[in-house]
Amino acid sequence: MAERMVEARDLRKRYGVGGGMRAALDGVSVSVERGEFVAVLGPSGCGKSTLLGIVGGLDRSYEGTMVLDGRDTRAMGDVELAALRNERIGFVFQAFHLLGHMTARDNVLAPSLFDRGGRDPEALQQRAEQLLDEVGLGGRGGDLPQTMSGGERQRLAIARSLLMDPDLLLCDEPTGNLDLKTGRQIVDIFRRLHQDRGLTVVAVTHELQLADAAQRVVHLRGGRVVDAPDSLRGAP
Ligand code: ADP
Repeated sequence: MAERMVEARDLRKRYGVGGGMRAALDGVSVSVERGEFVAVLGPSGCGKSTLLGIVGGLDRSYEGTMVLDGRDTRAMGDVELAALRNERIGFVFQAFHLLGHMTARDNVLAPSLFDRGGRDPEALQQRAEQLLDEVGLGGRGGDLPQTMSGGERQRLAIARSLLMDPDLLLCDEPTGNLDLKTGRQIVDIFRRLHQDRGLTVVAVTHELQLADAAQRVVHLRGGRVVDAPDSLRGAP
C-alpha cells in the first residue's frame, strides 16, 4: 500500500531557555497524501518555517513523530537522511539560496555534487538544460544569478529543486520576495508541476495567492493548526 508522503504527529518544538521558553510548534499534526498540493497558511511567527524544517528533515530536535514516505526521519542516520533529502525532496526558499559565484547551469547541477546514486553526469547535464528551458530560462545557463531578476532567480531555484527528480517539493514563502505579478508566475509553475508531474507540493506561506492555488489549506496560528479563520471565509 502506498504510504502517505507526509505524516506529522503532534509535533512540538520550543525555543529559548528556562522561563523564556516559547513554543514555536504546540502539537501540530498534518498529513499530506502523495500527489497533493497543500498550503500551510499563517502569519509571520506562527511556526511555518519550523514546521517545514522538521518535515524536510533539516531539523531533528523536536517532540512528536515525523514520518516521511513511510519512514520515521528521526530514526534514520545522518547520511541516510541527507541522501533522502537530496534525492527525494526539492527545496525552494524565499531568499532563493543560490550560489552567487556559479552560473545558472551549475546552480541547477549543484544537487548532483552530493549524489550517491551514481547518476549519469551527461544525463544530468541534459536534464539541467531541459529544466532551465522548462522554467523559461532557456539560453540563460551561462549567466550568474546576480544578473537575474527576483522572479528569474526563483525560477532558477525551482529548476535546481527538480534536478534529482524529487517526489516532494517543500517551499518556504517562495513568493515572499516577489511582486504580485511575478509571484503569480511562480505560483503557476507550482500548479503546473503538481498537475503535470504529479509532484507532491507543500508550501508554507502568508500569501493568499499561493494558498488559492493549493488543493487544501492548513491554517496555522501560534504553533497550532486551527479551523479557517473567519476573515478568510469571505465573511463580512
Ligand atoms: P514563521 O515561519 O511562521 O514566520 P517560525 O517557524 O520562523 O515562524 O517561528 C516560530 C516562532 O519561533 C517565532 O516566535 C520565532 O520567533 C521563534 N523562532 C524561530 N526560530 C527561532 C530560533 N532559531 N531561536 C529562537 N526562536 C526562534
